[in-house]
Amino acid sequence: MKVADGDWLDTNKEKGETFEEYIGSNPTLPTEKRKTIYIQPIGKFSKAQTDVIAASEEYMKAFYNLPVKLLPIKPLGRVPKDKQRVSGYPQRTQIRTGYFLEDLLPKMLPDDAAAFIAFTDSDLYPGDTWAFVFGQASLEKRVGVWSLHRLSDIALEANNDPDRLLLRTLKIAMHETGHMFSMRHCTKYECLMSGTNHLAETDRRPVDNCPECMAKLAWAMDYKPKERYERLAKFWDKYKKPAFAKEFREKAKAVANLAAASASR
Ligand SMILES: [Zn+2]
Ligand SMILES: [Zn+2]
Repeated sequence: MKVADGDWLDTNKEKGETFEEYIGSNPTLPTEKRKTIYIQPIGKFSKAQTDVIAASEEYMKAFYNLPVKLLPIKPLGRVPKDKQRVSGYPQRTQIRTGYFLEDLLPKMLPDDAAAFIAFTDSDLYPGDTWAFVFGQASLEKRVGVWSLHRLSDIALEANNDPDRLLLRTLKIAMHETGHMFSMRHCTKYECLMSGTNHLAETDRRPVDNCPECMAKLAWAMDYKPKERYERLAKFWDKYKKPAFAKEFREKAKAVANLAAASASR
């Protein structure tokens, strides 16, 4: 994988994780009783944002082969003073991720949730020394929060490309959900599970995992890679991205003759 100045691997030294290391790490995984991924939008969203949230539900189903439920939008309500600040340029109200992860989301967590993910339109920060963060998750509480705030901000500036918001949202949602299933950053390939420091890096990443990370998922979620690739191809048919649809159909063909990676689970 190529690493440029300012990229994730330029500033964070990581050694990655092999398939064997992942399965040996006792990862947090869906169980028979807890296998649904919930998506809870919180706040006020534009039409473009509600559309990409709905698309994330569909992509998530195909990507992780788990039931995914998109819940109706909830208002943010009043945030305590010590859980927010006004910061940045231009100035904006930011909400501390801890407010979602510790106060709000655990109370809303359904019993059968493998992961409970909140999408917010608010900008987020994890602690006083940080300028902002795109999202954060708590593995042990099975909750995570991701912000669409900067994705659409910058999408508008960048030639108003309507696909950019969709692609960024899908990549960030799938990447962070991977972390919620204990997946570590991928360092070997250009992979959806590679770490990113900035949006240009997110934009360069593919909309899928590399073969090794895919094998981890196939083991974790117990699915057949070929069927997953076909579902992802269908998603891109619907969202009119023939190049992606073709790429996933080619991958489906390439793995058609392999025994399911899940056979040994
Ligand atoms: Zn990450
Ligand atoms: Zn990977």
